[in-house]
Amino acid sequence: MPIWNKQKECMPRADLKRFQLSGLQHLLQYIYKKVPFYKKLMSRNGSKPEAVEKLADLQHLPFTRKDDLRQNYPFNMLAVPADKLNRIHASSGTTGKPTIVGYTATDLNNWRELTARIAAAAGVTGSDTAQVAFGYGLFTGGLGMHAGLEALGAAVIPASGGNSVRQLTLMQDLQTTALVCTPSYALHLIDLIKENNLDPAADLKLKYGLFGAEPWTDQMRRYIETELNISATDNYGLSEVIGPGVCGECYVKKGMHINEDNFIVEIIDPATGKPLPSGRQGEVVITTLAKQALPLLRYRTGDISALDETTCSCGRTTARLQKILYRCDDMLIIKGVNIYPSQIEEILLSMPGLLPHYLIEASRREHTDRLTITVELKPKKSSALNNSSLAALKKQLSAQILSITGIKAELKIADTGTLQRSAGKARHIIDHRNLNQI
Ligand code: ADP
Ligand code: ZN
Repeated sequence: MPIWNKQKECMPRADLKRFQLSGLQHLLQYIYKKVPFYKKLMSRNGSKPEAVEKLADLQHLPFTRKDDLRQNYPFNMLAVPADKLNRIHASSGTTGKPTIVGYTATDLNNWRELTARIAAAAGVTGSDTAQVAFGYGLFTGGLGMHAGLEALGAAVIPASGGNSVRQLTLMQDLQTTALVCTPSYALHLIDLIKENNLDPAADLKLKYGLFGAEPWTDQMRRYIETELNISATDNYGLSEVIGPGVCGECYVKKGMHINEDNFIVEIIDPATGKPLPSGRQGEVVITTLAKQALPLLRYRTGDISALDETTCSCGRTTARLQKILYRCDDMLIIKGVNIYPSQIEEILLSMPGLLPHYLIEASRREHTDRLTITVELKPKKSSALNNSSLAALKKQLSAQILSITGIKAELKIADTGTLQRSAGKARHIIDHRNLNQI
């Protein structure tokens, strides 16, 4: 499969590291001079821009947090005057007030290059017809992927999110070969395809699914691949850092190749802030090397994953970020035990008969934390299961959840279509304990 930019994606690692070091040195000079926030932050930390002589020196530099962007809302973290901006986006606001992000014309050109690499790694070529069902607008997913796919030469359908019946019509009439959206929305479209008695292998021309913007498991991947008869790849990004285009999977599907000529990715221990060795799980921290408008030093993403620096058989030399295990904000602490959605998703999808639609709820009754999980049955099973087989399924599921998490959960098995569907990022968690406190 073609590699979009062999020179950058297949650089010998020693050259790449040298390239990153000079990028980092340039970044430090740039932000020290152009962003008062960074001048203050670095001075407080006692770090001088010229003091970085090797990549490892990065670990002594201060972090940037989402709160810094919120406190400097909207434009105080920019390294260029606001009138030099060419585009403005915002984060989705999943965890609070959305952050505003700006791009210069050069940033937009670069962003297009990076999303083109991601799309090419997923298998898309100029002959494909790509339906972008991410929301267009302030969310970076839609316009971000759109530009890269267009650069590849694909015929891009800017369908945007929602209006699922029309999505399906477009997919059929325009013979869409690549679907670009959140994995949750792909599930929603699968529901609709089933409701309409369509057979993806015969009635659709889909070959690729490029999914991102939220965590999803390999079990979910297999489900979507089977149901849509496609190859599904994961790609990760976040608005503050650029949007989609940070990293994406190749056909090997063993981690997302990072555009390391543009980003330095570190994995740190979220509690101590200390860097962790390759392969260990921790918080993803990203430093941008080429952004003009909103350069970021050691941005703490709050996402948990691990790095793989082994060679990939696709030919790219870039390190791979493993699937995001969870975002810190999505972790529930139940009776002192950490629970996160992908743990539950893996268990649910290992059981035949269940759908990947689920909701995890935490509550507190009589000073005791409780965990309730609602999951949907596959359509045929809903009617076929009698009370005793339903009880047996619940028992089996309970035992699995207890053995993996150590927590006894209350299970609710619901009929297909009971839980709310999402055109964007799904909400898998409700913590009633926090809601009660408000
Ligand atoms: P928000 O942080 O408000 O959701 P964004 O739209 O910028 O705003 O989303 C970025 C976040 O989405 C990331 O920090 C991460 O938590 C999540 N995300 C994006 N892509 C993926 C992915 N492929 N896998 C898991 N999580 C992802
Ligand atoms: Zn690869």
